[in-house]
Amino acid sequence: MSLNKRAIIIFALTLLWGCDKPPTERPMLEIHGRTMGTFYGVKVVGDFPGGEQALQSQVDGLLKHYNDEISTYDPNSSLSKFNQFNSTQPFPISQDMADIVISSVRVGERTHGVLDVTVGPLVNLWGFGPDKRPIKTPTDAQIAAARVKVGIKRLHVDVSSDHATMRKDQPDMYVDLSTVGEGFGADKVADFLESRGVHNYLVEIAGASRSRGLNAKGEPWRLAIQKPTDEIEEVQAIVQPDGRAISTSGSYRNYYELDGKRYSHIIDPVTGKPITHKLVSATVITPTALEADGLDTALMVMGPEKALAFAKEQHLAVYLISKTDQGFKAEYTDAFKPYLVK
Ligand code: FAD
Repeated sequence: MSLNKRAIIIFALTLLWGCDKPPTERPMLEIHGRTMGTFYGVKVVGDFPGGEQALQSQVDGLLKHYNDEISTYDPNSSLSKFNQFNSTQPFPISQDMADIVISSVRVGERTHGVLDVTVGPLVNLWGFGPDKRPIKTPTDAQIAAARVKVGIKRLHVDVSSDHATMRKDQPDMYVDLSTVGEGFGADKVADFLESRGVHNYLVEIAGASRSRGLNAKGEPWRLAIQKPTDEIEEVQAIVQPDGRAISTSGSYRNYYELDGKRYSHIIDPVTGKPITHKLVSATVITPTALEADGLDTALMVMGPEKALAFAKEQHLAVYLISKTDQGFKAEYTDAFKPYLVK
């Protein structure tokens, strides 16, 4: 499983203990592919019009469409064209782009700006965007210069009955939707499946996942949260999301080391620097995968104490893993308990 930058190993776990195996399994279609610089998987229990081949081509087509909309790795994507548009004038965007930006800014406001999709100049400065890794850490002056281009309050989306536009208060602002792209894609594939009459499915894009109904054995979908190490793939906990979305953000896979220090891809918009605290994995369960995908990054920025306090205050279903001298420490909110199997 390449590029699995997330702490969830997505596999539909059946009840491996204490449950009689049903005599028959329902037919299940399973497809895999690459999207958004990572991987995806879809499991559909029952029929899909045109079978596995049709499912593969239609899901690939859907994900390519959204990649062409919101990728910052493709210089010709709609989002890249907005980032290249060196003006504060309104820039025409699609309704889908308006939806993902409005939803991302809403999650950002809920986290008091800790999640900030205008953080792109800092992400790129620290080498976690489409550009190359820096050969030395950015200077304070470079960080300060990038920070003045950041702030969700300076990004505006205007939607009318027949068109949508986006504009920035500073011409060289740069929007990076990497933190919510996979969740947005998982939501879109789930909506597509349901529009085709599919009600028993599992969709995962790099660990942001949506599921609904039952697996081929007639049991609820179960997913594993992985121990936050990039050496072995070991299960930390097993959850049963019961039709809700789940997403995990981690700081132990997407990082680099420079002069003996480790730099994570999670950037604190206030300091302009990668996080350095001991929270290494945050999992969130919410109704949509976009929301879970944005909130997990925000919790990673906050750090262990603030993330747990925020999750409790917001009654969020959250599972946090921190690194301690004695190993990993897991903490979760009361709202997470009903989803925890083991
Ligand atoms: P998450 O925790 O979900 O998000 C972390 C990412 O969010 C960081 O990488 C950074 O970009 C951003 N971020 C960091 N701090 C903050 C903050 N405080 N607020 C908001 N955002 C923040 N990668 C490739 O290598 N090649 C590709 O071709 C490629 N194409 C992509 C196309 C699309 C449409 C998208 C959405 C992403 C693409 N990516 C690509 C990026 C890659 O898929 C992941 O999105 C990225 O590595 C982060 O995902 P994650 O799940 O690891 O981290």
